[in-house]
Amino acid sequence: MTTTHTDHHADLDMATTQHGSASITAPGIHNGTFQRRVWDELGLQRDTDNLYLQTIDSVLKACEIIDARHHVQIILAQPKNEIMVHFPVKMDHGHHALFKGYRVQHNNALGPYKGGIRFHADVSLDHVKALAALMTMKCSLVRIPFGGAKGGIKVDPRACSPNELMRITRRFVSAIAPQIGPNFDIPAPDVGTNSQIMAWFADTYINITQNTPNTDASAVVTGKPVEFGGSLGREKATGQGVIDVLVELLPELGINMKGCSASLIGYGNVGSWAARLLEERGGRLLTVMDHTGAIYNERGLDAHALAEHVARSGGVAGFPGAEAISVDDFYSLEVDVFIPAALEQMIDVDQADRMNCKVVAEAANAPTTPAGDAVLREKGVEVLPAILCSAGGVTVSYFEWVQNKAQVQWDAERVDAELNRHMVLAARRTQLARHRYEVDMRTAAYIAATEHIRKVYAVRGIFP
Ligand code: NAD
Repeated sequence: MTTTHTDHHADLDMATTQHGSASITAPGIHNGTFQRRVWDELGLQRDTDNLYLQTIDSVLKACEIIDARHHVQIILAQPKNEIMVHFPVKMDHGHHALFKGYRVQHNNALGPYKGGIRFHADVSLDHVKALAALMTMKCSLVRIPFGGAKGGIKVDPRACSPNELMRITRRFVSAIAPQIGPNFDIPAPDVGTNSQIMAWFADTYINITQNTPNTDASAVVTGKPVEFGGSLGREKATGQGVIDVLVELLPELGINMKGCSASLIGYGNVGSWAARLLEERGGRLLTVMDHTGAIYNERGLDAHALAEHVARSGGVAGFPGAEAISVDDFYSLEVDVFIPAALEQMIDVDQADRMNCKVVAEAANAPTTPAGDAVLREKGVEVLPAILCSAGGVTVSYFEWVQNKAQVQWDAERVDAELNRHMVLAARRTQLARHRYEVDMRTAAYIAATEHIRKVYAVRGIFP
């Protein structure tokens, strides 16, 4: 079916209609290059390795294609607030260590700021800014009423005891408590944090604000344990969202989910759930790489057994149902779908050169550098972008927040069905923008996201 829209500003919310292939000359493109009008105006450096600038470049590219007003572009090019805190924590052997924490609030045009908290030794301001901007795009693409934020603490959680992690979490919450809240900024788990850390987070906030559990205060954070206000289905939500997108888009790419082969980077929350759900759909996971090494089984890895092995041993290395392979062999193995679910910028030119897949489903945030992306595009690999593939987690976080606010608990079937609906519509919205503007899937997803924000600014105006 072809779309009847001829206006390229027509509503991408019409995603329930099948896309068509209307030919449109994108207004931001001049002689085949993007001008990025606000880049110099804001004094942004043209550092191509910087994750924040890479992210903002995708946002501005989409803005230029849809001819977004100048004020929308300058607003989205910088976060609204960048909060940095230093706080001391008493460690187990008696001395105090000083930690650096961040909370970046990128945009709240659509609703309260929303985004995870990362515990990792490489956390930096620009990194958190990039992840916050991605959250703005993600929430807009899946049409949940949240803005984008991200936070983190520069710490290696594997080097800390559970008691140290609890004290670090509580001190961080006390440091940023005045700047967050259930109606203003709602954190969640990310790399290096989990539902236990979210429970300590909520408990600290409840105590600081002199609330009791089961009041609005518990909604200050999502990804909590189910017995303390968490949503059923939150833990697997990001992995499930990846699979929902693949189920929706693979047939059009000529790939059958049943029997499709896959490789995966990362076997943490997102990767291990994507693997288990892929297996349930009849997919075959041939190889996995994480921080402990790469493993391979030509008949397919047992995703559930591997999850148990990782929970016991901390990584995929030594899994009895597989053989160890080199990193080079991992990247070059022929598969239908390659799923990066670990850290940012892991697929650069070298990795992209070696990769032998038809589709990349970006389960992690920003796993592909622009240079790596260009190589994949040249090789004809379809890249399904992170703001689409990895939006399942924040979508179920939104459901958790809704349930906390209404003091109800949804059953697992309702969570799964609502998540699927959001993911399928986001995938169709992206497809629609792709055909309407004749762009790649990444640009299309950013267009579908910025279109919505642009409309909200148009009706709200800029205060005062
Ligand atoms: P996690 O901490 O549970 O797992 C991270 C995984 O990355 C681990 O398996 C680890 O071994 C692997 N890893 C780390 N360094 C590596 C390296 N150098 N080489 C190979 N593997 C390496 O984190 P997660 O929650 O699964 O998040 C993974 C990605 O998904 C991140 O980009 C995160 O921002 C993104 N994400 C997470 C969620 C969520 O709900 N947890 C939601 C959206 C996006």
